[in-house]
Amino acid sequence: MLLVPRVTSLNPSIDGLAARFGRAFESPREQRLQQLIHDRTRLLAAVFEHSQEGITVSDRNNNILTVNEAFTRITGYTEEEVVGKNPRVLASGRHDKAFYDAMWESINTRGYWKGELWNRCKNGDVRPKSFSISVVRNDDGEIVNHLAIFSDITDRKLAEERIEFLSHHDALTRLPNRILTRDRFEQAVAKTQREQTGIGVLFVDLDNFKYVNDSFGHQAGNRLLVTSVGRLKQFIRETDTISRQGGDEFVIILPDIKESAAVERVASQILVNLAWPFEIEGYSIGISASVGISFYPAHGRDFDALLQNAEAAMYAAKAAGKNGYRVFSEEMNADALDKLKLKAMLRLAIDKREFYLVYQPQFDLSTQRLIGVEALIRWHHPEEGVIPPGRFIPVAEESGMIGEIGEWVINEACRQGREWFDAGIGPFVVAVNVSTQQFVNGAILRTVKRVLERTGFPPQFLELEFTESGLLSDIRNSLTTIEAVRALGVKTSIDDFGTGYSSLSYLQQFKVERLKIDQSFIRAIGANAEGMEIVRAIIQLGKTLRLSVIAEGVETELHLQTLKKLGCDEAQGYLFSRPLTVPDLMKFINEGKGASLL
Ligand code: C2E
Ligand code: CA
Ligand code: CA
Repeated sequence: MLLVPRVTSLNPSIDGLAARFGRAFESPREQRLQQLIHDRTRLLAAVFEHSQEGITVSDRNNNILTVNEAFTRITGYTEEEVVGKNPRVLASGRHDKAFYDAMWESINTRGYWKGELWNRCKNGDVRPKSFSISVVRNDDGEIVNHLAIFSDITDRKLAEERIEFLSHHDALTRLPNRILTRDRFEQAVAKTQREQTGIGVLFVDLDNFKYVNDSFGHQAGNRLLVTSVGRLKQFIRETDTISRQGGDEFVIILPDIKESAAVERVASQILVNLAWPFEIEGYSIGISASVGISFYPAHGRDFDALLQNAEAAMYAAKAAGKNGYRVFSEEMNADALDKLKLKAMLRLAIDKREFYLVYQPQFDLSTQRLIGVEALIRWHHPEEGVIPPGRFIPVAEESGMIGEIGEWVINEACRQGREWFDAGIGPFVVAVNVSTQQFVNGAILRTVKRVLERTGFPPQFLELEFTESGLLSDIRNSLTTIEAVRALGVKTSIDDFGTGYSSLSYLQQFKVERLKIDQSFIRAIGANAEGMEIVRAIIQLGKTLRLSVIAEGVETELHLQTLKKLGCDEAQGYLFSRPLTVPDLMKFINEGKGASLL
């Protein structure tokens, strides 16, 4: 047996160490052994020095014995400045005693700790770092060293924060967007239930805004939007939320309402105030607005219903001649009836073979190759014509029919995929959309297993697209489901990325392969400078998490060139192709279309 003396602490002077052993080794065998130790020690020292991650080795009392170059690069402290000191010299004061107690508890009992620490650099900067601390024990089980390995995660944190802000705010007006508004609404509901009050929802739409844009230009249009926000804000309280829904639409949430007349007063004040001409770029521009009002709980209990009803009321105000407001009433909404009818028709659709799939090509931006297709469902009803998924998927989800429809989709996509595969077309990945409801009780996992068995489609060519909100609705279930799906060899991605709550700490745990940047952000490219920022941030995030990033909704050459410049990996969108039926897709592939655009 080869007995290698154990190095209890890493001595920076490795050659000195070898020399120390050298004296003891004389026979050829011993010299070989010496050489071996020498080489190995050199290798370890090289690993230590060249590691991109900062490393500190400290003794049993946690006094620093040595640090590597990366340590100095990251913290600004040289080895001389810290040797013999406790790593506490780097503490930032951001963590409390309980935090450190828990950390040491883990180190002493489990032998390691992993987590994020904010440390102070020599120049005073406090930066976040990802740490892993472990102990080295001797043969008697006593701790002889502490080993800390860390990297600076400032860039990742910044990207996270930027996405956090941009995905919750409108870039032009800096107002909260729909996601944040929904959040605020939910907080208001909780309060309302305690205090027995109501909530007013105002849907404000500027009249003839398009005319302003067309005659004075976009810049003037934008200035007018920003100025109107200033005017809208004059009539709302600190606790109210005003948000931009997109275009010239604003939604205002007024919590704590004791009588509906108070909300109507706000609406009429807004109308009067917006009617004053706007002085923009030397022009005096007059506009007006139409406002729809709905009340919680009378007109709906959830945000979507109230928003929809406020919007219906806004349309009623427009129909009545604009520049006015209307309170929602049931007659404004023929939709409820529509839903019942849809539900009944939906029940029969699978058996009557009214569904089919269309496929939208996806391209790799660097190799210009077709790498996959996204399967999208279509419903052709014999009397109603084509009913878009945006209309029937929500109804299928509400009524529990999505499980059955979802299984049909996966099965059809895999059956078709197998047919292409056998015919030597491709190979490429077929991506399928998965609804949150299909997650319940791991139903999706059973479905996928069943379908793969039934169709014999190679699992590595199947991809499941999950939405962020779906994943976050039941995190533990999502984590195990994703893991199990991946264990089958199936790929996974997060759809509509950036529109959900973007809880990035969880995102790191979801081991998906791809992020799909939501279309709305791609559309913002070229519309405003900040629009591009979020796309940049998401691509950067994908890179740090080593996920590939695909952009959807790529419609223009400008979108494409910008995405290429930002280092986006893949793209799909009308610029390349709309979703195609199978024969059209075959034609598309045979003619080599799409790739020629790149
Ligand atoms: P999604 O998953 O975000 O799908 C992308 C949507 O964007 C598709 O609409 C697609 O036709 C459209 N699109 C693609 N490229 C462009 C573009 O360049 N510009 C624009 N403006 N739009 C583009 P579609 O097919 O109407 O589907 C809408 C949504 O319905 C999908 O959004 C998805 O959430 C849902 N959906 C579709 N098929 C299925 C399905 O089989 N199962 C489930 N659960 N949901 C589905
Ligand atoms: Ca999708
Ligand atoms: Ca999407």
